[in-house]
Amino acid sequence: MSNGAVHPEPHGHVYGHYAAPKWPDAHCSGKEQYDAMYKESLAAPEKFWGRIAEKFYWKKKWEAPFHSYNFDSRKAPVNVQWFIGAETNLAYNCLDRNVEAGQGDRVAFYWEGNDLGEDSTTTYSQLLAQVCQIANYLKSAGVGRGDDVTIYMPMIPELPAAMLACARIGAVHSVVFAGFSAESLSGRILDSKPRVVLTCSAVKRGAKPISLKGIVDDALVKVTAGGHEVDTVLVYDHTRAATRADVAFTPGRDVWWQDAVSEQPTTCEVEWMGAEDPLFKLYTSGSTGKPKGVEHTLGGYMVGTATTFKYVFDHHLSDVYWCTADCGWITGHSYVAYGPLLNAATQVLFEGVPTHPDAGRAWDIVDKYKVSLLYTAPTAIRSLQSFGPEWVKKYSRASLRILGSVGEPINPEAWLWYHDVVGGGRCPIVDTWWQTETGAHMITPLPGATTLVPGSATLPFFGVEPAVLSEKGEELQGECEGYLVIKRAWPSGMRTLSGDHARFEATYFNLYPGYYFTGDGCRRDKDGYYWLIGRVDDVINVSGHRIGTAEVEGALTQHDRCAEAAVVPMEHPIKGQGIYAFVTLMQGTEYPPPPALKKELVATVREVIGPIATPDVIHWAPGLPKTRSGKIMRRILRKIASKEEDSLGDTSTLADPSVIQTLLALRGK
Ligand code: ATP
Ligand code: MG
Repeated sequence: MSNGAVHPEPHGHVYGHYAAPKWPDAHCSGKEQYDAMYKESLAAPEKFWGRIAEKFYWKKKWEAPFHSYNFDSRKAPVNVQWFIGAETNLAYNCLDRNVEAGQGDRVAFYWEGNDLGEDSTTTYSQLLAQVCQIANYLKSAGVGRGDDVTIYMPMIPELPAAMLACARIGAVHSVVFAGFSAESLSGRILDSKPRVVLTCSAVKRGAKPISLKGIVDDALVKVTAGGHEVDTVLVYDHTRAATRADVAFTPGRDVWWQDAVSEQPTTCEVEWMGAEDPLFKLYTSGSTGKPKGVEHTLGGYMVGTATTFKYVFDHHLSDVYWCTADCGWITGHSYVAYGPLLNAATQVLFEGVPTHPDAGRAWDIVDKYKVSLLYTAPTAIRSLQSFGPEWVKKYSRASLRILGSVGEPINPEAWLWYHDVVGGGRCPIVDTWWQTETGAHMITPLPGATTLVPGSATLPFFGVEPAVLSEKGEELQGECEGYLVIKRAWPSGMRTLSGDHARFEATYFNLYPGYYFTGDGCRRDKDGYYWLIGRVDDVINVSGHRIGTAEVEGALTQHDRCAEAAVVPMEHPIKGQGIYAFVTLMQGTEYPPPPALKKELVATVREVIGPIATPDVIHWAPGLPKTRSGKIMRRILRKIASKEEDSLGDTSTLADPSVIQTLLALRGK
């Protein structure tokens, strides 16, 4: 679908332009409309966001001033407020509002279980009733406005339902990904001190059964030792093969969900909350250090997630949307639980992994539910790519309309595979750059409006004003590279770090007062497109040239045999910093492969970027250290590259710790 025009990419490499399809009914159709809306969103935020916010239900409207913020910590504490004085409720807007508008029989969730043949359907009316029952139970257990609730559950409909139940009664949810250890769970419980924890008896991820309740029990022993008591553990019976009798129960504390919740009334009064009351806490993925407890509030988050969902996925009621993220991550909060439901979307909720029982599962699900909007991560794309295109081509995928990517820069090779093989060249790709902290998409194409270039997240979303700073903090103009910052508040941004406003200011505002500091390095090209090139700490300075980790990784993956690459800086006596590359080869390769392959990989990088980016070391990596959400932990790789593996730092969010030993054994091979 490339229209032949070429785009001079950073470092002279050239990819095609992919013009936006002509979709007359797109919510934003064409660059002119984008430009006009973007301009208005900055020039008249009150008018722009006010008009959008009118579509939601507010128990009480906002007052003047509509919003206020201070990003300059030298003047006053950093503070952001939107829809000042307004009152609303997220669960009401996600459910009651849609049911009242006649969408009650519409499917909210097509649930697809881990194992083939397990599925169910939940309509908006059913979800509303379910949420009310959980909310009533929570109230009976003493949970009220402002109280914390920890949710540690797999991807079953009860997970988003539990989040909405909290929102309905004004409780603050903290969802902990159900793959985390007892240690990580206990740390998060001790941080937010809930009296009630919601969990599930057991779960299967792929072929592996996991006793979630057992992990909760272990975590609560640590919580008690840490000086906090949880009064109630509500346990969803999802044992499958096992029976309830096999699940250890602490009388007086543990309660079976199916017994306690099903007897509750299916209606529950809504607690009207202030727009700036907290909605949830969520910990970042920890790829750069200890996870941060990010806090979001109601009003701006509602408007921000709903609006980005509508425009970035060009959502129409005829669409079926599937986001593969777990609700334990921000993507699962903003683009499973809230954004889609606020738009009355029909979505697929998938409990399993896309390679179980085989590498065709994802495409089987796409065909089964006629998925039109698919949202996943580069790590998943690269993993599916490494199994070969046959797995994809076995399935029709004719329903697909738009493909999304999130979590990391997507290397052009994976982008092209996603576009050409998965989407058959028909579907625009929305490469969405954002963070747990930003709550919603920040830099992203709009499918009916933006010309795409593989590897670029393209342009800012409405209301987002990015800037690029030099190391000294000067704002750079035009074509440039440096630190990505945001110049003004946008509705869905975080408001503080859980219980630690000083750390919030220190992390995001003190270095460059007046700006929100993202921690990411980027380039801006002559068309104003943004290219995320890696974490600030990872951008490599080779003899005075700044080279992004994402660029070198993108070049390596252009080699046919390279499935995935992770690049980190290393000390270099002459160049200052050198390039150290960890390389994963296609499925089925034996390690170490013949030595000639290293030369070929180096040659590929030299050809794609230039001799300046020549990798100094190639280190074979059958697996890479990744967070549970699939992000590469480059900080751990930096330690391995500099032989400091004795001090790896916080590894609690590592998905598979055994990859480290394998990596160490392959050093120098
Ligand atoms: P921590 O802050 O604890 O280290 P984290 O930053 O990995 O964790 P998230 O908030 O989930 O946790 O990730 C946000 C980061 O992910 C961004 O700052 C950016 O580095 C990366 N990212 C997300 N989406 C994209 C994208 N489309 N392109 C490039 N980078 C992306
Ligand atoms: Mg981060």
